[in-house]
Amino acid sequence: MNNIKVIEKVGKLSGSTIVVLAGVHGNEQAGVVAINNLSTKLKVDKGKIIFIVANLKAIENNKRFIENDLNRCFLDEQPEDIINSLEGRTAREIMPFLKKADFVLDLHQSNSLNSKPFIICNGKNVDLTKFFPISRVTVGWESFYPGASDSFVNLNGGKALGVELGSVNEKDCHSLAEQIIVNFLSGFGFMQRKAEIFNDKEFFKVKNVYKNMKSSFVKLRDFDDFEVLSGDCIIGKEGEDIVKGDNGDIITFVRDRDKLNIECFVILSRLDVTLSS
Ligand SMILES: [Zn+2]
Repeated sequence: MNNIKVIEKVGKLSGSTIVVLAGVHGNEQAGVVAINNLSTKLKVDKGKIIFIVANLKAIENNKRFIENDLNRCFLDEQPEDIINSLEGRTAREIMPFLKKADFVLDLHQSNSLNSKPFIICNGKNVDLTKFFPISRVTVGWESFYPGASDSFVNLNGGKALGVELGSVNEKDCHSLAEQIIVNFLSGFGFMQRKAEIFNDKEFFKVKNVYKNMKSSFVKLRDFDDFEVLSGDCIIGKEGEDIVKGDNGDIITFVRDRDKLNIECFVILSRLDVTLSS
């Protein structure tokens, strides 16, 4: 079984190892395009870059996943329903690479209609975000999404960052992905090129992830990612029950859900962080 494509680029000088992942969600293909564009022409001076295009089967079908959400499968001990699925096996192909890497960068796109790019980060690694031309930084995903690639790495003591490049409906997200990859590689010395620094950030912490435990969830309307709730703060309905947030809550990834016990939306709050320059 082989559901990933791996391209390794090794520099003349020894150094760190970075894994750049894309296609973990098969319909989010900007990162895949970026890897295809960069992996042939990029010159590595130091260390090792491992580009991984994940979940080839889902990419081929332009679907988020085939059997299980791959970004919930990166677990040392996978539960029964994951272990024998395509994505369970795919995660086991990828995890050895993630464990050996000094840095991991995972590229995603949002399925919301309107979505500005943002970074998914661990509270310990916020300084790494300075190499990204993206101002929004979110932390605190690990306890809610332990099976995500970045959570898996960060919980194992590594350094991982996820990037949401914008909506899947936007055609130009791959240019941002290429800019991010090149600047990040420059920042950590993989390439002899001066990195640009982007210290103007706003930080958010995941406050809660709402899951539908009793019934299917239907959103009231389309919400933008990072939309601030106001007025009656109604988000949707779980069965007959109205689901509300609090005034001022920042909401993202609001989705209709038929299956039970699935993430329906994420609530964020603002966080004060000062980056060291
Ligand atoms: Zn994704």
